[in-house]
Amino acid sequence: MSFQAPKGTFDWLPPRSEQVLAIREALAAPARLAGYGYVETPVFEDTQLFARGVGESTDIVSKEMYTFPDKAGRSLTLRPEGTAPVVRAVLQHGLHNGRLPVKVWYSGSQFRYERSQKGRYRHFWQVGAEALGAEDPALDAELIVLGARGYSSLGLTGVRLLVNSLGDKTCRPAYRAALQAFLRGLDLDEDTRSRVEINPLRVLDDKRPEVRAQLTGAPLVADHLCPACKAYHEEVRSLLGAAGVAFDDDPRLVRGLDYYTRTTFEFVHDGLGSQSAVGGGGRYDGLSEMLGGPPLPSVGWALGVDRTYLAMEAEGLLTDTEQEHVQVYGVPLGDDARRRMFLLVDELRRAGVSADMAFGGKGLKGSMKGADRSGARFALILGERDLAAQAVQLKDLTTAEQTEVPLAQVADILKGKVQ
Ligand code: AMP
Repeated sequence: MSFQAPKGTFDWLPPRSEQVLAIREALAAPARLAGYGYVETPVFEDTQLFARGVGESTDIVSKEMYTFPDKAGRSLTLRPEGTAPVVRAVLQHGLHNGRLPVKVWYSGSQFRYERSQKGRYRHFWQVGAEALGAEDPALDAELIVLGARGYSSLGLTGVRLLVNSLGDKTCRPAYRAALQAFLRGLDLDEDTRSRVEINPLRVLDDKRPEVRAQLTGAPLVADHLCPACKAYHEEVRSLLGAAGVAFDDDPRLVRGLDYYTRTTFEFVHDGLGSQSAVGGGGRYDGLSEMLGGPPLPSVGWALGVDRTYLAMEAEGLLTDTEQEHVQVYGVPLGDDARRRMFLLVDELRRAGVSADMAFGGKGLKGSMKGADRSGARFALILGERDLAAQAVQLKDLTTAEQTEVPLAQVADILKGKVQ
């Protein structure tokens, strides 16, 4: 029996894999231009980092983590998200003792044991950006604008931005209590009733129709914001407007944990069916303290690369790219020629000309077929007689025109022809 990729995972293969690389680059490019520095954290972390940094009451922590003991009995978890690891790294290395905000971006695999379906995988890729150590509506707006610019640079026109504010330490408790009072009066199953007690904001995010139908009259955080939170949110909205980034207010957009404060946002795409979120983020002023650090008001986002790919597909932006072509293809005839061709393709590559050669001793006919398949513009045919003459046959595969050129000059000649 042959092996299959595990359930909920898949392989990126050429030529689509080239597009996914380009998407990762495009989503990160605006943040890099804004002074965000690259960080890479381990793929696994201490399980407690996520239990505290994502929250015990979330689906991610309670149901979806890939947790395992290492050989010394430590509990480790494959990262389900990038923010907690970034905050851990910033605190561990004291980056917050330097210039603030600390601005970083990352790109990497995330792992969640979810029910897999189109757009929802157990192994997926996010590009993320975080700005730590500043409370400033311009910073929230900056991040949102950078996310929006990433999508538009890919040609996407169907990405919608939803924004909301969750309030802060001052106004959230009263809102939470009002929401709980409302939710306790509903007809909910046991699990949801216990969520009302631990994490009532998350109930607003429930996708089940029977729950949604009951939420129509739920109190909205927007009606409970304190003046400071209201002013902060107005400023974020006004900066987005000034930057020409369109958005919709979504008073039901929530992140359920206490250390998420004020700005929250999501990028959605309507061509993706039920998994419509292509990216999201928000302010998490309390997270550093939850992880044992000092107060470090911060904001960030994570953009889903796989779903961005699907959004581009839905908008017809993925033209059938062909396999990455080489420019030149070597056809050696015989063992001596193969040794010389091996050196010649190396020389070409060092000169910046992309080159491949026939492997496996195929003979002239088979090798020329390889040259055609490679998509190369030129073939270099090297036989025993050519070797003796220190020359090689240069064949233009589009015109079939063939000329003999000295081996010593072939790199220079080709460099001129392919540029
Ligand atoms: P989150 O970390 O849950 O806020 O997710 C941020 C973004 O990552 C989402 O908007 C999605 O685009 C993407 N994402 C989250 N979970 C998955 C998943 N299971 N499969 C594919 N993409 C995902």
